[in-house]
Amino acid sequence: MDKRLEREKRLINLMVKRFCDDKHNQNALCLDCSDLLEYAHNRLLACPFAEDKPVCSKCTIHCYNTNYRKQIIEVMRYSGPKMLFKNPIDTFLYFWDKYKHRNLQIK
Ligand SMILES: [Zn+2]
Repeated sequence: MDKRLEREKRLINLMVKRFCDDKHNQNALCLDCSDLLEYAHNRLLACPFAEDKPVCSKCTIHCYNTNYRKQIIEVMRYSGPKMLFKNPIDTFLYFWDKYKHRNLQIK
């Protein structure tokens, strides 16, 4: 798997886990959240931009269906700011990718 996708996948894992821990109070990821995570992984793998992919929040294609999109936005809104303190390196790399690919358009 491409390094960037690997990074984004890792960050999504962390964010969903954090969200579920705090909001749903389960020992492991609850059904809804593991479903969302699996969906997110599949979207990443299916992404037509592959290596040149902008980060998902900046993407010009919105490939999530409405339901999952609502969920992932909620997760990011909740966990995003917390990631900065818990996982500064991952978060930094995320913003670096975001910056580097900011002007990417569909070819
Ligand atoms: Zn959950």
